[in-house]
Amino acid sequence: MLRVIVNGAFGRMGREVMKAVWNSEDMELVGAVDSVGVGTEIGTLIDTTDCRIFLENNLEETLTRLRPDVAVDFTTPRVVFQNSMTIIKNGVHPVIGTTGMSSTQIQELIDLSQRLEIGGVIAPNFAIGAVLMIKFATEAARFMPNVEIIELHHDQKIDAPSGTSIKTAEAICEQRGDFQQGLATEYENINGARGGKFNGGIRIHSVRLPGLVAHQEVIFGGLGQTLTIRHDSINRESFMPGVLLGIRKAMHLERVVYGLDKLLFD
Ligand code: NAP
Repeated sequence: MLRVIVNGAFGRMGREVMKAVWNSEDMELVGAVDSVGVGTEIGTLIDTTDCRIFLENNLEETLTRLRPDVAVDFTTPRVVFQNSMTIIKNGVHPVIGTTGMSSTQIQELIDLSQRLEIGGVIAPNFAIGAVLMIKFATEAARFMPNVEIIELHHDQKIDAPSGTSIKTAEAICEQRGDFQQGLATEYENINGARGGKFNGGIRIHSVRLPGLVAHQEVIFGGLGQTLTIRHDSINRESFMPGVLLGIRKAMHLERVVYGLDKLLFD
């Protein structure tokens, strides 16, 4: 049995992860941490009367005392880097879903994990369909290099643009090489009207509205035609097969990898 703790357990994703781990035959939920809801009985968050685990608020102390195999983190961009450091330094395999880390921070975590030989995964999107969207978009960019990205999320998301849109743009840039798109003379009448400017002139547009979960369109434009690749997570269950895969695979990796694609295709 894989012994798992969840950090950010009181949050929307944290609850869903605890439910998925609880219902997994090869995993045991051994602890739950959050900065809010301390003392809450976990069973009340995941609709079961059998789970007598109580929410705690000190990640390091919980890691040291419970010695889990894997720690899953769905907290906030402000704290995720420090949390990930703490998890790796304590010899626990990290599965990090929280978005908002810079590429320098991600690289620092990968380097640390390599030195300490701790396998894990950081994935801005654990939905398998989203990973496929990035793969198909990367393929399309070979033939249609002009592209813009629209990502749409619920209105409680604090970071923009989404980690998924950044990962998509990075993959497309790698495919397109030095290609530059866009009109050098264009200007905005309202600041931000053309979205955020990524490398190579790729624009990323972020929509935040109640009712949305996590969605993305990658729109390619060519002579007389457009191609749109779209992925929709219609609820948070969509992320769970990927998170469980991450927990299982983290144990067998020698360092942290970035992206669920590394677990699916490499
Ligand atoms: P949420 O509902 O706000 O949950 C985050 C939880 O973490 C909150 O309870 C928050 O408490 C808590 N927290 C904040 N700082 C903490 C700390 N230092 N230690 C422990 N817990 C702490 O957010 P969510 O919708 O679950 O999303 C969480 C993150 O996952 C976001 O970055 C989101 O973009 C990302 N996400 C990733 C995927 C993926 O597939 N990778 C999918 C969906 C979401 P407070 O209320 O006090 O801040």
